[in-house]
Amino acid sequence: MKIDFANPSAQFHAHKGEIETAILEVIRGNQYILGDQVKKFEENFATYIGVEKAIGVANGTDALELALQSLEIGAGDEVITVSWTAVATVAAIENVGASPVLVDIEHEFYTLDPNKLQEVLSPKTKAVLVVHLYGQPADMESISNFCNKNKLFLIEDVSQAHGATLNGKKLGSFGDVACFSCYPTKNLGAIGDAGIIATNNTILAEKILLLREYGWAKRYESKIPGRNSRLDEIQAAILNVKLGFLDTDNISRNEIANLYREKLDPNLFKTPIVRKSSQHAFHLFVIQSEGRDDLISHLNSHGIFPGIHYPKPIHLQEAYINRLKSGGDMSATETVSKKILSLPIYPELSLENVKKIIQVLNSFRS
Ligand SMILES: *Cc1c(COP(=O)(O)O)cnc(C)c1O
Repeated sequence: MKIDFANPSAQFHAHKGEIETAILEVIRGNQYILGDQVKKFEENFATYIGVEKAIGVANGTDALELALQSLEIGAGDEVITVSWTAVATVAAIENVGASPVLVDIEHEFYTLDPNKLQEVLSPKTKAVLVVHLYGQPADMESISNFCNKNKLFLIEDVSQAHGATLNGKKLGSFGDVACFSCYPTKNLGAIGDAGIIATNNTILAEKILLLREYGWAKRYESKIPGRNSRLDEIQAAILNVKLGFLDTDNISRNEIANLYREKLDPNLFKTPIVRKSSQHAFHLFVIQSEGRDDLISHLNSHGIFPGIHYPKPIHLQEAYINRLKSGGDMSATETVSKKILSLPIYPELSLENVKKIIQVLNSFRS
């Protein structure tokens, strides 16, 4: 037995026939970039999230950069986000010339602590970039209220929470603009790089469409300065197949999560708490444990390979340490970073294997 925390190849095998047919159709056709498959994916994804428009792009980091640029956020501007996220979130803010301002998370949910926003607010603040980490919705009511009150843009990074809901609404429909990565391991994953942006603001959507391809309103005529962040047809065709399975896949992830939450020894492990009135997407199933590094060795010796998301908070990484503005107290972020562990979770993981993993976990130190 060898079980990793994620397994994108198992997902391909689960839908092999349909995916291979979709790829063949593209390569036998004559449109490889920004064609019918991308259009179809954009329309279906916008409908799925419940927004006016979606724009396919090259990856999740680009999605964040284009969203920021469409809001004219750049040099001299500050964007508030968390230190507890994929580095891409923070890198994207710097890539457009703006300054990330990092705040702590709510210890029990792993998402941005709304109580930390006021102390970092400055005349330079333009936006809050909220991350729905591990598939868990952030506290959107408090964060939206703060943004409205202070006239800030609200940007959602939904790269780990495709399909998750809060109060019956899909994540990605709360902010001014929302960004999704479709990296292979994500809940909606391509077989390569891909990303998508969702928004209810059609003017913003038009601008992102221009920015995505050299500012072209018409071919070879740039209306505004842009770049290349095109989504290719093969990835879009694969995503069109997989979008049809996203809801059932998320149900499978929740079944696995429920089994872990029910059966893991509460004296040994702290399991995730799901926010009220929400559906968690369980991109990752993250527990906290004392003696985490010994636990990893124990699991490895039984063929189980968990992940750590993330080993080091961004404000302590070499590229960023003592350089970024932050809310000061990062105790929740720093505490969880030493204890967290991502257990195997993916739609194709059988409940039999989950039970075996639980047995191995509960035998830790016994
Ligand atoms: C994966 C991820 C990204 C980056 O997406 P890429 O497609 O790898 O560029 C951004 N933010 C979060 C929270 C992610 O998990």
